[in-house]
Amino acid sequence: MSHPETDTELPPHILIFPLPLQGHVNSMLNLAELLCLSGLHVTILLSNYAHNRLLRHASLRSLFSRHSGFRVATFSDGLPADHPRAGERLMDLAFSLKELGGSQFRRLMESTDGLSDGGARRGVSCLIIDGLLSFIISVVEEMGIPYIYFRTIGACSFWPHFCIQEIIDAGEVPLKGKNEDKLTYWKKKEMDMMVTSVPGMEKVLRRRDIPRSFGVANGDDPTFKTMKTDTKRTVEACGLILNTFEDLEAPILDQIRKHIPNLYSIGPIHALLKDRLESEGMESSHNYSSSLWEEDRSCIAWLDSQPTCSVIYVSFGSITTLTRDELLEFWYGLVNSGHKFLWVMRPDSISGNGNEIPVELEEGTKSRGWMVGWVPQQEVLAHPAIGAFFTHSGWNSTIESIAIGLPMLCWPYFADQMTNSRFVSEVWKVGLDMKDTCDRITVEKMVKEAMDVRRDEFSKRAHNMAMLARKAISEGGTSYLNLNRLIEFLKSTVS
Ligand code: UDP
Repeated sequence: MSHPETDTELPPHILIFPLPLQGHVNSMLNLAELLCLSGLHVTILLSNYAHNRLLRHASLRSLFSRHSGFRVATFSDGLPADHPRAGERLMDLAFSLKELGGSQFRRLMESTDGLSDGGARRGVSCLIIDGLLSFIISVVEEMGIPYIYFRTIGACSFWPHFCIQEIIDAGEVPLKGKNEDKLTYWKKKEMDMMVTSVPGMEKVLRRRDIPRSFGVANGDDPTFKTMKTDTKRTVEACGLILNTFEDLEAPILDQIRKHIPNLYSIGPIHALLKDRLESEGMESSHNYSSSLWEEDRSCIAWLDSQPTCSVIYVSFGSITTLTRDELLEFWYGLVNSGHKFLWVMRPDSISGNGNEIPVELEEGTKSRGWMVGWVPQQEVLAHPAIGAFFTHSGWNSTIESIAIGLPMLCWPYFADQMTNSRFVSEVWKVGLDMKDTCDRITVEKMVKEAMDVRRDEFSKRAHNMAMLARKAISEGGTSYLNLNRLIEFLKSTVS
């Protein structure tokens, strides 16, 4: 793989390996592009599934034409093409990747020219690995290649993950109710008790604000074990990248720094990329997409015809699935609020049997809103007709909303989303946290609160936070400088 006679003249070669899911691919592709802009060679490793969808629905090809240093390598995630890779079947992907991904990764790294592009690129100088893919670390360590973790979650949820053992030791995780259904679990009174064993979060975090997997898993649960050890192992990497910014999460970032001093907060990364592209005279990132679904642009024309701040944008991201009952409760709540809505309903959004959108609901939406399979989200969030974002609190959606200064109404589905929504309502105070409730009366009430009663209050704070985000990515700002520091480190891996 290495070509000693030319290696010294070639730029460092960075291999970026995201978990092949939309949220992870989005932010890590943004990073790939930022590194290319600074003259590095970058290969991004994608599953065939993600790669094919990016070729079909996104403008991946424009990335190749923009950056001569950009390449893609692929592997098989081991699942059939029609597997949903979402909802309850998401774990199939995690297990399949673990089983297959490690050996394929080894073969790729050991092949003589798998990544060298016929000698046009040096051997991999450094890896940037999704923090959920630690099963490849043994290969990387054997080969003696430095690596940095990229966690595509916020500091506010990385930190409780890092402290899982402390939470267990303090007896704050219920460690029971494994067989309870979701509703019974969340309804428990003890869910409102504070978690006091996560330093810096004693006053904000309740048991219902940490992922359910913390609560129901016993120590032997393989997923839980992996999550726990993976996060702790971050200390062994050369550093940690987070898509956040100092003014948003400084107290928590400071806690993390005590264990991982080489922390690069470089968010909001999509906005940082947009700025750098513009300063290079290139088209903005708004003009290309990294969507795994086809974007339906009819929603933009529809939004253009709506009054300012009159529409609530509803999207639960790329993984969440809803039951038919939940879907109906949301729909009636939205309709009864009297506000128009733009609702993203992926083809695989409804779980269980009979997973098509009920006809009466599709018909009823026509006069009240717009329902599409997938939208150009950043463009939608920036549209003047949007008054608030009804979100599942995925981290990308959260930081995109913060960057644009839009109030949020949160219905977290799982994992880090439980903590993100708590921070939206209680720390940043830029929206409401509906949590595990999902009945039409609550939905109606909360939509009205976000869009009418408390809109000015939320908008003002959200606007201030967006200004801080802008400051962070502007020249001399914290994210701007952290990215430069990261690039310097990556360059130093070949000297
Ligand atoms: N997204 C999009 N169009 C949509 C819905 C979502 O482009 O119709 C993007 C959104 O901008 C975000 C990502 O998909 O970057 C979803 O990531 P997030 O972390 O919010 O949630 P996840 O899908 O991982 O649960």
